[in-house]
Amino acid sequence: MTEITEHLRDIVERVARASALAPHAKNVTIVAVSKQKTSADIAEAFRAGQRDFGESYAQEAAPKIEALRGLDITWHFIGALQANKTRIVAENFQWVHTIDRAKIAARLNEQRPHFAPPLEVLIQVNQAREPQKRGVGEDEILPLAHEIAALTRLRLRGLMTIPPASGDPAHWFRELAASLERLRAGGLDVDTLSMGMSSDFEAAIAAGSTCVRIGTAIFGAR
Ligand SMILES: *Cc1c(COP(=O)(O)O)cnc(C)c1O
Repeated sequence: MTEITEHLRDIVERVARASALAPHAKNVTIVAVSKQKTSADIAEAFRAGQRDFGESYAQEAAPKIEALRGLDITWHFIGALQANKTRIVAENFQWVHTIDRAKIAARLNEQRPHFAPPLEVLIQVNQAREPQKRGVGEDEILPLAHEIAALTRLRLRGLMTIPPASGDPAHWFRELAASLERLRAGGLDVDTLSMGMSSDFEAAIAAGSTCVRIGTAIFGAR
C-alpha cells in the first residue's frame, strides 16, 4: 500500500469514529486538499476511493482538472477568489467554499456554463475578524446569503470557516454551527458546514461539521 492510500484509510476511519460520537451525526464529506500536489497524487487517492478534492489556486488547479477529466471527481475551490479568476472556477469546479462578497457571487453566476448544474457555494466567515483572513463578519452573513439566494446559477449550501490558529477551535466551530442555524431560521435552505482541517477535524465533527478539508494528513507536508 502506498503512503497516500494508507493515510486515507486512517482518515476515513477517524472521520467515521468522530461522526459516530457526534450527537447529531451527519454524513461528513472528506475533501482531500490537493494544492501543491500533482495529478498523479490525486489519481492515487482516487484509486483508493477518494472522490472530493479541494484546490486553493485556480491557475494551479486548471491543468490538474484537465488531466483528470475522465475521473468522477467533485472539485471544491477553497482559496481566495479574485475577480479575474472566477471564470476558471465557474467552468471547472462543482463547489466554492470561499464566497465573501456579492460581486464575486455575481460573476460566478454569470460565468457558470448553462449546461452545468448550479454551482454549490458556501459563504466564508471570518469569525474573529482577523485582518489577514478573508471572509465576512457574523452580521454580514444574512444579507450576503439573501443576495446569493437570488442568483439562479448558484446554490447556497452553507458556511465555511478557518478558525483562529490560537485558542480552542471547538469554540469557533460551535459558533459557526449557530450561525448556520440562524440562516435556517432566516428562511434559507442550507445544510453544509465546511470546517475542520488536518489538525482539528475531530473537534469540528463533534460540533456538527458536514465537510472537513484535509490536506497534510492525507498527502503529507507541502
Ligand atoms: C490548505 C487548506 C486546507 C488543508 O489544510 P491541512 O492543514 O493541510 O489539512 C484546508 N482548508 C483550506 C482553506 C486550506 O487552504
